[in-house]
Amino acid sequence: ILELRQVSKSFGGQPVLREIDLCIQRGEVIVILGPSGCGKSTLLRCMNGLEETQSGTIRFGGEALTARGTDWRQIRQRVGMVFQHYHLFPHMTVMENILLGPVKAQKRAKAEAEGQALRLLGRVGLADKKDAYPRQLSGGQQQRIAIVRALCMNPEVMLFDEVTAALDPEMVKEVLEVMLDLADQGMTMVIVTHEIGFAKAAADRIVFMDEGRIAEVGDPLSFFEEPKTERARRFLRQFW
Ligand code: ATP
Ligand code: MG
Repeated sequence: ILELRQVSKSFGGQPVLREIDLCIQRGEVIVILGPSGCGKSTLLRCMNGLEETQSGTIRFGGEALTARGTDWRQIRQRVGMVFQHYHLFPHMTVMENILLGPVKAQKRAKAEAEGQALRLLGRVGLADKKDAYPRQLSGGQQQRIAIVRALCMNPEVMLFDEVTAALDPEMVKEVLEVMLDLADQGMTMVIVTHEIGFAKAAADRIVFMDEGRIAEVGDPLSFFEEPKTERARRFLRQFW
């Protein structure tokens, strides 16, 4: 569904992504690991057009995104993204936050979008919070709302950038459970995380990045048991 070929990007002459080749199948769950600054966030942002690439091609459903005339607004509706900081609008209720995309950007009927939002809220255990304001919710609850908000656009792919990194430990689990649930339902996901247990449980493939390159790709079992590169071995040591 997403295909990257020789994608490179630099910031002010400094290479950040180098010749990235990655092909993501529909329904696949990819976990991206790697040291700080290796380009994980930049790679995700290139996948939905928040960053421009300098060379290489990105195809989404067979369509080249790097071609001129790409409708990025439409792409961002089909490739949802959730960040470390949830960016909910503080002056709007949970439901108003969720409906912004479906009703304003996608021009869907409010009643229909609201029905879907309620179903999704139920799935993450927060149906009773629809009229609450973000400040009345815990960090874990706000992050689950941010996931619902992205899902309510009916994306074909979901990108997650360290969505549990800013949460207290007891809230991490409830957010990871929502993501595991999504994986079970066949959502295509690309996830940057440092939660190794989650990566083992959820990932179909682990992509290990180092200095802007994909250093290693493998199934979780072989990656965690016998990483092929010295760099990955060193990276994994910090977790035991
Ligand atoms: P972390 O684990 O700390 O989130 P990361 O792997 O997500 O790191 P990126 O945020 O993708 O890394 O950054 C990769 C490199 O690109 C870093 O050296 C960073 O300083 C640089 N970089 C990122 N965004 C910009 C920007 N907008 N302008 C200039 N340099 C940037
Ligand atoms: Mg990052």
